Amino acid sequence: MKIMPNRLDRGFYMFQNEYEEKALEVLRSGWYVLGKEVSNFEEEFSNYVGAKYCVGLASGLDALWIAFRILGIGKGDEVIVQGNTYIASVMGITINGATPVFVEPDEYYNIDASKIEEKITDKTKAILVVHLYGQAANMQKIMEISKKYNLRVVEDCAQSHGACYDGKTTGTFGDIGCFSFYPSKNLGAYGDGGAIVTNDAEIANNVKIFRNYGSEKRYYNKVVGANSRLDEIQAGLLRVKLKHLKELEQERIVLCERYLDEIKNENIALPKIRDKSTHIWHQFVIRTEKREQLISYLEQKEIGTIIHYPIPPHLSEAYQYLHIKKGTLPITEQYADTVLSIPLYNGMTEEEQKRVIDALNAFN
Ligand SMILES: *Cc1c(COP(=O)(O)O)cnc(C)c1O
Repeated sequence: MKIMPNRLDRGFYMFQNEYEEKALEVLRSGWYVLGKEVSNFEEEFSNYVGAKYCVGLASGLDALWIAFRILGIGKGDEVIVQGNTYIASVMGITINGATPVFVEPDEYYNIDASKIEEKITDKTKAILVVHLYGQAANMQKIMEISKKYNLRVVEDCAQSHGACYDGKTTGTFGDIGCFSFYPSKNLGAYGDGGAIVTNDAEIANNVKIFRNYGSEKRYYNKVVGANSRLDEIQAGLLRVKLKHLKELEQERIVLCERYLDEIKNENIALPKIRDKSTHIWHQFVIRTEKREQLISYLEQKEIGTIIHYPIPPHLSEAYQYLHIKKGTLPITEQYADTVLSIPLYNGMTEEEQKRVIDALNAFN
């Protein structure tokens, strides 16, 4: 049977009874938007990451653009971000009219902190840090730079729920941490969802008002806001999953340590773990110069893969208006041409993993 790159059904069946009970409980409660499931989830998730506040939202993209909106970063402002990210990170910046300024990644696929300072201008207002693939970025250096230049820091934690740098959880270093609960994320819902976390009471309150048409009190609208509410069913299901997130994370760590130990092929570069960072393995991303051959070879062996991501944002059609030429970000572009995510999911069997490892080791 074909091994898919991801199997969300396996994760569901692990705790099927709990999910089904919770869904029924919410359905039968008569309360579907902004109720006790959302407020309980917000409290539990803020505790999980170690932030004072959490505000549930409708998606990770909403968390990002609302974060910049609340910080007042928009037209005429620049935001520094790594070139090799999912395009939603960049949209979070540009939806508000601000300009993304791309920095090359380091060998861990995070922003190369040593290349940030050369990109700072008098228009720079913030750094958007993406903890890509589940590994925490070099937060010590990034926070030093942000203090030196008085910049805001927003963290895109859509792939890093619970990952730490030097013992501190991603999302709690900067002004705002943005999360996605899209089904395939490590803390994934059964539909769309997102959240921001922050230690700043005013930011938390402003996001809370913003997500509900800008109203604090029903029908009294303070600002032109959005409809971006996490719904009760998703919040309830996320509460179920959050209780098991540590064990789910541990399972992924075991799977990935096995990949790291047992994949041995000189055509394949394995991911590296940064000193002081933890990796929660949203994806297991290898690199190879022979990507096209490897993909079709694995396809023949009924093993699916995905590329995260084949086109870097600066080269996507959506961002042609930035006029950034191919060749401007050589490392970013080289990663886009060589990265490949191999199968990884909770509930992956030893047998399935062995098939993937054996296939990779026999490739030349
Ligand atoms: C998934 C993802 C997002 C967007 O989250 P949605 O909930 O799909 O809107 C943003 N940034 C990164 C890095 C992501 O992986």
